[in-house]
Amino acid sequence: MPPLDFFSMTAVVAVNLLAIAFVLPWSMGHQVDAPARHAQRFFLLQGLAWIVILVASRHPVRPWIDILPFLAASISMWALWQLSRALVGWLGPRSLLLERGLLLMCMAGPLGFVVLVNHMDYRLAWFSLCHGLGVALAACMALRPRKRVARGWRYMMFGIGMVMAASLLMRSVLALETPWLPFFTADSPANHGFALVAPFCTTLLLIAILVAWRDEANQKLRDMALQDALTGLANRRSLETQGQHMLKRAMREGLPLSLVMLDLDYFKGVNDRYGHVVGDQALQLLARTLQKQTRGDELAARWGGEEFCLLVYASPDEVQALCMRLKSALLLGSRLELAFELCFSAGCAHAESVWEGLTLEQMLAQADKALYQAKHLGRSRWETVILSPS
Ligand code: GH3
Ligand code: MG
Ligand code: MG
Repeated sequence: MPPLDFFSMTAVVAVNLLAIAFVLPWSMGHQVDAPARHAQRFFLLQGLAWIVILVASRHPVRPWIDILPFLAASISMWALWQLSRALVGWLGPRSLLLERGLLLMCMAGPLGFVVLVNHMDYRLAWFSLCHGLGVALAACMALRPRKRVARGWRYMMFGIGMVMAASLLMRSVLALETPWLPFFTADSPANHGFALVAPFCTTLLLIAILVAWRDEANQKLRDMALQDALTGLANRRSLETQGQHMLKRAMREGLPLSLVMLDLDYFKGVNDRYGHVVGDQALQLLARTLQKQTRGDELAARWGGEEFCLLVYASPDEVQALCMRLKSALLLGSRLELAFELCFSAGCAHAESVWEGLTLEQMLAQADKALYQAKHLGRSRWETVILSPS
């Protein structure tokens, strides 16, 4: 069997990465969003870094042996940063400690090359240490989701990251403590091992990234199906499903439940006087106001047009107080943002304790009746109906 050589192995890794880097944008299409673009850049930069290593291994003389490994190290860290940006896009903001730690490693790694330019083994050990720690930090970023996303690809990314980090840290020890890794592109078993681990991890990483991308697309479709496009609140369908859960919870835990139906007063006049764009802004303002005034386990939804619903675990007195807060917040917000005043009327259906057989439809119908009465009695007011099992 012919002996392994670092040059051929590096060439295979680089070609693989570049093939992925060129095929990925083409197969994902032009209209991908920021996280997918960062992931594409990751592969491109990794491919470039390996090309530079390839060139460096053919020029083991100064100044190339100083410049090219520095360049490869910088590009490789830049690639890692791009991958972390993709994770932030897919999973939401990550822990500040992880983000700052990674940024530090991305800068400290290449900088070590400059400072330790005359110590081949030290600079390689330093860079491998920073790179390994950076990869470990990026892997940890995949662990905690802020958004509801599938676990599979995150754990896969974490696992791949840890394998890469372990092999980089091992490289660091080998460079420092043994004669097996005298310089960055040495044709040694340590580098051969690394050139074998890298494509294996790259393949798995590609799969994880494609699954992450698919998950994101699925999540967007789910959001679109359950969210109102103009205001970002839950839509009618979402109110119906989440409402069932809240009804069950209220019954199980003996909580009071109130459904408030709100309707903006004289809203047609707003559209007629200020135009539909301002009308839309008014609806968005009301949606934000409702969102701010509801707790995490309660629900604000757009029922349709200029009608909104709140489902809250609250007594009639608490609903009164909530409506008062909403009224003053909306008045203040509309004066500041729209330069006119917005008011609403509301109808509330309240069940002190939810009984078997009470449905969301019944609550909606009663709240609607109460709202009609509030409008009839002059607007900018709220009426409450207390529900009881008949
Ligand atoms: P009331 O006090 O009786 O509720 O009077 P109103 O004018 O608010 O009620 P009406 O039902 O007569 O008019 C509702 C208006 O809401 C008419 C419609 O153009 C407007 N509307 C519904 N959906 C939207 C929307 O998405 N954007 C904008 N800008 N206007 C909307
Ligand atoms: Mg209406
Ligand atoms: Mg109205």
